[in-house]
Amino acid sequence: EMFGQLTSGLESAWNKLKGEEVLTKENIVEPMRDIRRALLEADVSLPVVRRFVQAVSERAVGVGVIRGVKPDQQLVKIVSDELVKLMGGEVSELTFAKSSPTVILLAGLQGVGKTTVSAKLALYLKKQGKSCMLIAGDVYRPAAIDQLVILGKQVDVPVYTAGTDVKPAEIARQGLQEAKKKNVDVVVMDTAGRLQIDRTMMDELKDVKRILNPTEVLLVVDAMTGQEAAALVTTFNLEIGITGAILTKLDGDSRGGAALSVKEVSGKPIKLVGRGERMEDLEPFYPDRMAGRILGMGDVLSFVEKAQEVMKQEDAEDLQQKIMSAKFDFNDFLKQTRAVAQMGSMSRVLGMIPGMGKVTPAQIREAEKSLQIMEAMIEAMTPEEREKPELLAESPARRKRIAQESGKTEQQVSQLVAQLFQMRVRMKNLMGVMQGGSVPALSN
Ligand code: GDP
Repeated sequence: EMFGQLTSGLESAWNKLKGEEVLTKENIVEPMRDIRRALLEADVSLPVVRRFVQAVSERAVGVGVIRGVKPDQQLVKIVSDELVKLMGGEVSELTFAKSSPTVILLAGLQGVGKTTVSAKLALYLKKQGKSCMLIAGDVYRPAAIDQLVILGKQVDVPVYTAGTDVKPAEIARQGLQEAKKKNVDVVVMDTAGRLQIDRTMMDELKDVKRILNPTEVLLVVDAMTGQEAAALVTTFNLEIGITGAILTKLDGDSRGGAALSVKEVSGKPIKLVGRGERMEDLEPFYPDRMAGRILGMGDVLSFVEKAQEVMKQEDAEDLQQKIMSAKFDFNDFLKQTRAVAQMGSMSRVLGMIPGMGKVTPAQIREAEKSLQIMEAMIEAMTPEEREKPELLAESPARRKRIAQESGKTEQQVSQLVAQLFQMRVRMKNLMGVMQGGSVPALSN
């Protein structure tokens, strides 16, 4: 379990405060010793631990009594705040160039996951609607080029290769030219990794950097290397100048030292983290969520977000099923409109239905207003009418009754009925399911 040891180490600190009334200089001595030990065991660098413990101690003694909050809870809160601060506070987003292409240069030692990250990053950017191209620049490991080509196919992103006989800087030049020709938004270059830092590696990187003039230079570091990761980020930053780090293998039993030390030691933020071998396993580095995990509160936010995504996807699929089988009635109509109103974000739901593009905020407001009108009319229908919209198409009397009960005009009711049938047909056409589906004319 990642951070498991750190979490339980910190727990023993809180436990020592059980039964205390207030945090004092005296009663925090023991808990602070536990915190210090826990951080050192998690392989956080010593100067970082010292500064951290001092910052927490100072705040702890100064907090005073807050009614209803126990001293151990106060300490948890202070440690949480300071952990977030230590990791850089806010999430640090990728920067994009004003004019395309944005160039991202990846560097790192061998085996840290650089090639994997290149492809993961391309997929990550693609999901944000950006077109991508990869440049294979690991000329010392022929297998790395093949690997990148395979991964590129997997995420459906073109890979520029020039073999292993061309100098990395020349590959960079050619690759960039190709990217400009292809008009891609972002180009990501994978570079050679060595087992350790050496002169040739640094010089080559400098040459590549000069040619590419990248917006982002990201050092890929392995979380398993603990505080060594922070030292590497520092060295690479001094040597070639980097904009941030990508921390890989956070899914393994990393002790946390890397995540906690990188920003404080190097001054450079961790921008992204790799949490698995799948192409999807790359995400932004959220200091607050990381602190939550370290404190053993679980990655609640991440979980909720994922769950929401899955739920919305299922809703959309259910709706598609209904439409395809032409069973989409006023009940479905109502359920959907209510769900949409609840989510307050129609664009996302519509975006999931094929054929419905992006909508503007003005269109959303307009749609929400007409949803309210529709809702009133549907509520005035009998259960039978809701299930069999045909009844309404056939009977002006029924439509008149609904208009009166809902306070709308007969014309509005007729429009709603027509709209439902049109929607059925339109959706069916969109999905290429052409069986039946003519629009019944309203009889007068
Ligand atoms: P490179 O030498 O830096 O290019 O490293 P590779 O991209 O070839 O990755 C080395 C190994 O680490 C491969 O087996 C990857 O599948 C694995 N790897 C990369 N990133 C992660 C990660 O976030 N989690 C896990 N569990 N494995 C990873």
